[in-house]
Amino acid sequence: MSMHDALVEQPVPLVPLKDRWVTGLLQDTTLMSGAVERFGSPLNVHNTSPFSDNVKDYQDVFSKYGLKGRVFFARKANKCLGFVQASKNMSIGVDTASFNELKQAIACGVPAKDLVLTAAIKNKQLLELAVAHDVLIILDNSDECDLLQGVCQAQRKQARVGLRISGFHFQGEKSYSRFGFDIDQVEEYVRDCFHHDQKYPSFQYEGLHFHLNGYSVEERAAALSQCVELAGILEMYRLKTSFIDIGGGLLINYLADHHQWESFKSQLKSAVKGERDAITFDNNGLGYRLEQDQLVGRLNAYPYFNTHYKSLFLQEIFEQEVAGFENLADQIRTLNIEIRIEPGRSLLDQAGFTVAKVAYRKRDSQGNYLVGLEMNMTQMHSSSADFLLDPEVIYLSDEDVDDEAQDVPVYFTGAYCLERDMLLKRQIHLPKLPSVGDLVVFFNTAGYMMHFFESEAHQFDLAANVFYDVEASAFKLDSYDRT
Ligand SMILES: *Cc1c(COP(=O)(O)O)cnc(C)c1O
Repeated sequence: MSMHDALVEQPVPLVPLKDRWVTGLLQDTTLMSGAVERFGSPLNVHNTSPFSDNVKDYQDVFSKYGLKGRVFFARKANKCLGFVQASKNMSIGVDTASFNELKQAIACGVPAKDLVLTAAIKNKQLLELAVAHDVLIILDNSDECDLLQGVCQAQRKQARVGLRISGFHFQGEKSYSRFGFDIDQVEEYVRDCFHHDQKYPSFQYEGLHFHLNGYSVEERAAALSQCVELAGILEMYRLKTSFIDIGGGLLINYLADHHQWESFKSQLKSAVKGERDAITFDNNGLGYRLEQDQLVGRLNAYPYFNTHYKSLFLQEIFEQEVAGFENLADQIRTLNIEIRIEPGRSLLDQAGFTVAKVAYRKRDSQGNYLVGLEMNMTQMHSSSADFLLDPEVIYLSDEDVDDEAQDVPVYFTGAYCLERDMLLKRQIHLPKLPSVGDLVVFFNTAGYMMHFFESEAHQFDLAANVFYDVEASAFKLDSYDRT
């Protein structure tokens, strides 16, 4: 391709996968605009049926391999109580990571046996709540163990505990994590503190836990194998491991087309190198940058396109080779250990979207179209450098636009006083410029995107959360919004 072609080549779209409930609902523009009028902008719209399907898919994998397995929904990925309720209805577990998350789950009626507390910081109040309700506590460090022992003594109760493990060996290197007990030191710790009820007589040890960064199947399998080995060692100290929890971080796939994803990445690199027009605001490299004319860095974003996601991802972990066994699943089966997973994002795949109202259109001094939304950057934000899915406009008005306002590249801007409150850094091509009052839909935002970083700066209200009932064509406010 010549330089000239590259310059005029249109930025590639990134078309998201959309569940049927979403496409069906969006066709009813009157219902949608009524909802935004009633609940405000932006509005988070949810549905629990993809959530249930995602749960079942994981459960099917456990069945297929003949494993004892359990799913715990990591509820920090979404604040709605609707998903906690759905978890309870399906009798799956709920992973809680704060006092309020735990308190709400208990209030919702989730039984203690279905709860786990993995909070990174556990203060006395939180441990008291967990012990009082017999909730399994995943321990992170020895100060926490000391605090918990004190809480148990005060309540004259036992605590159900598991140990979070990290520092696994993988491909000749030791991985680093700030969380948990180091795999190479935990035996000594357990021997000194847990064995013979020496230091922690009130602890009832139940199992091992880890949660890894990144999305490597092989690394998870390696960590699981090392936990299996550790479980064997702990038996020597009469500590029976009844479960190994392999955490969350199971990949999902957001995009319909692999080619779009690959083209996007190559276009981004070309743009940062100055070989084509920018495809992001201010030619933001999303992790790539130029150093002495060389492209360095890497795309600092979730891998939006994947072929081995959700249940396939879990299957691949179980299919990993283990000497002397058919595969990892085969080894675990012989040990009678329950495998637990704690997916957050992947259970919420297709379970929610965010819709916001257009407040203004304008052209900036560089000729870019800016479309201002009644929304801010924290209301759709993850740790990714950008949310790499195309939004869609629901055109409500039949305002005529001139030719120049058709097939337009736009940037969406938010309500904060910051120059950087761009809702998406990527330029989006729209069939025509939206009108004031039109709606913009951001897809598949239920996992982290809508809630994890939302703030009340400027004292803006947080977005309302509703569940859509397909049969009744009606919205119901999540009870989280009324507590
Ligand atoms: C965040 C977290 C999860 C969920 O991770 P996902 O990527 O949403 O699947 C599970 N367990 C622990 C301990 C976590 O911190």
